Amino acid sequence: MTAQTGLAPVAIRAPQARAAAEVTPEAAKVLPVLFVRWQLQFTKCSLQCPYCIAEWTKRPVDFRPDRFRRIVDRLLEQPYRLVIRLGVEGEIFLSPEIQEGVIRLSHHPKVEGISFSTNMMASDDKVAAFLDRADCGKVGMGCTIHDTQITEEQAEGFFRRIEMIQKRGVLVFVGYVAKPDRFDYMRRYKARLDALGVPFISNEYNGAFEHVPYPEAYTSEDRRELRQFLWTDHYYEMLVERRNPKGKPCLAGHRYIYLGSDGKILSCGNDRNLPWNLWQKAAWHLNKQWPARIQARRVRRRQLGNILTDDLRLADAPRRCPHTSCTCGNEAQAFFQVGEEYHRTRTLRVIYPKSRAAELEARYPNLKPLEEGAWKRS
Ligand code: SF4
Ligand code: SF4
Repeated sequence: MTAQTGLAPVAIRAPQARAAAEVTPEAAKVLPVLFVRWQLQFTKCSLQCPYCIAEWTKRPVDFRPDRFRRIVDRLLEQPYRLVIRLGVEGEIFLSPEIQEGVIRLSHHPKVEGISFSTNMMASDDKVAAFLDRADCGKVGMGCTIHDTQITEEQAEGFFRRIEMIQKRGVLVFVGYVAKPDRFDYMRRYKARLDALGVPFISNEYNGAFEHVPYPEAYTSEDRRELRQFLWTDHYYEMLVERRNPKGKPCLAGHRYIYLGSDGKILSCGNDRNLPWNLWQKAAWHLNKQWPARIQARRVRRRQLGNILTDDLRLADAPRRCPHTSCTCGNEAQAFFQVGEEYHRTRTLRVIYPKSRAAELEARYPNLKPLEEGAWKRS
């Protein structure tokens, strides 16, 4: 059997038998790890950041609690241990259903890690109530500080909650966008978070700033500092230097999948954003609707089915990346080589170099490696 990916055909393997959702911790331990990025389209938020890439004010909420619960059930039926990252596309602490799903997943023996991002504007009590019910040893949180959108008092509340979350054992990190005029703030945040034992992980600024395109326009001095703000050399190379991943072995479609809110499965998120081919460019001159239809067909051809209705069929081995950029931190970790040089963790976004493991684990006490090569098992 072959996968319809638009790539050279690759062998795919149907699971021998559907593993029951209920499984003992001992039985779960022998299963290979599958990394899952799952977008939820819960487009509701407590902030209105002008730079919001989720554009939650402009997009309809496409979150259905019943479908969400069914997808959780289906994920737990798969013959894998799971490291899941939820892309909420809004604010998780506005959704009791998503919090409930995270709590349930965190207690399941097949789940190694369940992480999500949040603006951490929920009250101390609300966050504490969630942590009381979750298995914090499996939870990861990426808390983005939107300091230009909140008051100083709110920012202090943010840091107070970060400290509380850290003390509960969650693998929490603070995210930020490395806007060219915010380097002073990044220095201060990194120092403050280092003192708490919490990683600070910036993303590159992507787009025009004062009419100049970034990340291309970062100066060499900016770049020297960005290496530490981006957390690892690998992220710096991919997100700031924009290294071309084409042809490099990757876990996407093998031990990593991208799951849409409707259950559709792709190897990685880049399969949704294919650059136009020659047909589309030519079609544009004849009918403005045609390129979008061709695009939808091309994306459909890359789909690996729907988790709600189909057995998960994954490639037998890592495959070569067909794309020319990989600029999402949650995806860039899927590179095969990352697992050779870095420890992966229960928080999809957080990896750290094996060569500095002892030093980093001492500085950031909630950093713990996933079992070595757990994604290599068959
Ligand atoms: S907190 Fe995140 S989701 Fe909410 S408006 Fe800001 S960027 Fe968008
Ligand atoms: S390297 Fe990135 S873009 Fe390429 S297949 Fe892997 S996840 Fe997708």
